Amino acid sequence: AGLGILLSRRGDYKPIPCIEDVSVPVARLPEYVADVTALIGRFSTKAGFYGHASAGCLHVRPFVNLKTEDGVTAMKELMDGAFGLAVKYGGVMSGEHGDGLQRSYLNERLFGPELYRAMRELKEAFDPRGLMNPGKIVDAAPPDTDLRFGPGYRPYELRTYLDWSSDEGFAGAAEMCSGQGVCRKLGEGIMCPSYMATRDERDTTRARANALRAVLSGKAGKEFLTGNEMRETFDLCISCKACKSECPSAVDAAKMKSEFLAHYHDIHGLPLRDRIFGNIHGLSRAAAVFPALSNAFMESGVGKSMLERIGISGERSLPALSGESFTEWFRKRPRKARVTHAGKVLYFHDTWVSYYQPEIGKAAVRLLEAAGFEVILAERRGCCGRPM
Ligand code: SF4
Repeated sequence: AGLGILLSRRGDYKPIPCIEDVSVPVARLPEYVADVTALIGRFSTKAGFYGHASAGCLHVRPFVNLKTEDGVTAMKELMDGAFGLAVKYGGVMSGEHGDGLQRSYLNERLFGPELYRAMRELKEAFDPRGLMNPGKIVDAAPPDTDLRFGPGYRPYELRTYLDWSSDEGFAGAAEMCSGQGVCRKLGEGIMCPSYMATRDERDTTRARANALRAVLSGKAGKEFLTGNEMRETFDLCISCKACKSECPSAVDAAKMKSEFLAHYHDIHGLPLRDRIFGNIHGLSRAAAVFPALSNAFMESGVGKSMLERIGISGERSLPALSGESFTEWFRKRPRKARVTHAGKVLYFHDTWVSYYQPEIGKAAVRLLEAAGFEVILAERRGCCGRPM
């Protein structure tokens, strides 16, 4: 939970894992906490602390803006300072997560030349061609190599259709992905159903955010924003919004897909299928004049091949129209049911209730009227798109 709260923070100051899980003997933990707090304070910033105090292991992530030179310098000095504290208290740089690409460069200083040489020889013995995790544990590059964001990072501000102010811009929303890859999990939760089905990195929430970030940061040309590769990257996203609640960084790929599609359709036009589904209320109302005939037609060979032509599998059965629409039932229902002593209730009957499952609306109306409410229908309202 601690990590999720930290990573869902919007803006340029991100919780950087540069100190992360320095671990010290439990008895020295209070002194270490005081020292590391003072160290972070010297850079006029704050940090998130969470972890396993009983094991002397705290995760400490200072907020640093790595899009500036000062931020990169601060990160390196914080790492040096944390290294000094680990040595001072007889601890290690990583008690839980491993050194990775970021902190392995400290290992020679931490373990001394003799032990470091032995570690290098051991790695070479098992991996003479340096294929497995190059640059980790030994022979690491400096910590500011290959930063996701660095001082040269300047995303361009796209004119957007949606309001992205709470993410500090569309680019800010794409930047929320920290690359952890929780969206690749299988067998628990919902995120991400497209990856669970295909097991292809391209169908993860991470890939979608990264693809957008690549365009907005200028790493990929602006034309990629409305290109077919981007469309394919978002194609299988079903906009379920599971990522918004399950991703530790609360990446909202469904909202990003809506923004992307608006730009894509500006260039390529709206496909017929989208026009049909966009007008699902009007089409349902027209088809509901002869519901039995419409249902039979949609299940016929001609109906199926029509669906195939607009990109809907003929093996898929469409929801059947109800014999009587909700509004017809509502108008025809007996007068005596209308008791009104408890007040008025405005009922929004959507397209689904109106033409496909009026039982839902009937049950709601019966319940409200039994409780003494007068039910009024919202006559001028749009379609929420639920039948889609
Ligand atoms: S909204 Fe899209 S990216 Fe997010 S979990 Fe659902 S399918 Fe995956």
